[in-house]
Amino acid sequence: MSNIIEKTVLDVHHWTDTLFTLRLDRDQGFRFDNGQFAMIGLMVDGRPLMRAYSMVSANYEEHLEFLSIRVPDGPLTSRLACVKPGDTILVNKKTTGTLVLDNLRPGRRVYLLATGTGLAPFLSIIKDPDLYQRFDQVVLVHCVRHVADLVYGDFITDELPKNEFFGAEARHKLIYYPTVTREPFRNQGRITDLVRSGKLFADLGFPPLDRTEDRVMICGNPHMMTELCEQLDGLGFDQGSHAGAGDYVIEKAFAEK
Ligand SMILES: Cc1cc2nc3c(=O)[nH]c(=O)nc-3n(C[C@H](O)[C@H](O)[C@H](O)COP(=O)(O)OP(=O)(O)OC[C@H]3O[C@@H](n4cnc5c(N)ncnc54)[C@H](O)[C@@H]3O)c2cc1C
Repeated sequence: MSNIIEKTVLDVHHWTDTLFTLRLDRDQGFRFDNGQFAMIGLMVDGRPLMRAYSMVSANYEEHLEFLSIRVPDGPLTSRLACVKPGDTILVNKKTTGTLVLDNLRPGRRVYLLATGTGLAPFLSIIKDPDLYQRFDQVVLVHCVRHVADLVYGDFITDELPKNEFFGAEARHKLIYYPTVTREPFRNQGRITDLVRSGKLFADLGFPPLDRTEDRVMICGNPHMMTELCEQLDGLGFDQGSHAGAGDYVIEKAFAEK
């Protein structure tokens, strides 16, 4: 239990029946790079039941925030979905993850490609002022099944551009492209199809992916990640990791699950 600390739930927001956000108080000693994840959980039958969760909050924020799915029979999330303000959550202080800006080579434009709760690490990253120093354009694509699953859309479009430190840059550089697969919406289709067909780039008015200037970060459904990696490898992009920066990065722990 040495690395596991107890944190108090400050707030719970249920977006839908299957998606919720937890806000916890933060320990001074809890450090991370934006885009990383930690193990969080609950005591169940006298033992810690922990799962990997990407931080939604940025590393300079006072609280800790996580976005969670509720899997109906999921050992952790069926319980986590019932927590209330004042309850205790276990958080492992050891943070890790490959989805960090330092694992990317410099470039002109960065695509942040997420399905479902894979949005979580990108919420941390788009609050990182360094992102806007490193890139001229930032494209955040969030693919979900239903319109109601487009969580944090208002935050991205309304709140972030008002940030007193980097709002002006975010307003200028960040492009949000939500897409839905099972309902009518202004953008439709899976990320893999949108990239393969070129529709994503045509909609944005950008050229097709080019490893000399584009960088890509990917998080979410393991099948989507595998397929996108194949597409990027085919275009000559190479994958970055802590061993060396690359043209694209994925959350390896997510992909290997
Ligand atoms: C590096 C990493 C980061 C992660 N970050 C997050 C995060 O920020 N938010 C989050 O909700 N989950 C995240 N997960 C998944 C998370 O660790 C748990 O699997 C999830 O919370 C379900 O836990 P459970 O015990 O209820 O069910 P589990 O027994 O862990 O999972 C049951 C099944 O539910 C499905 N499933 C699990 N998680 C998801 C998901 N997020 N979206 C869609 N289907 C899922 C899978 O099919 C899985 O086999 C992450 C996983 C990894 C490896």
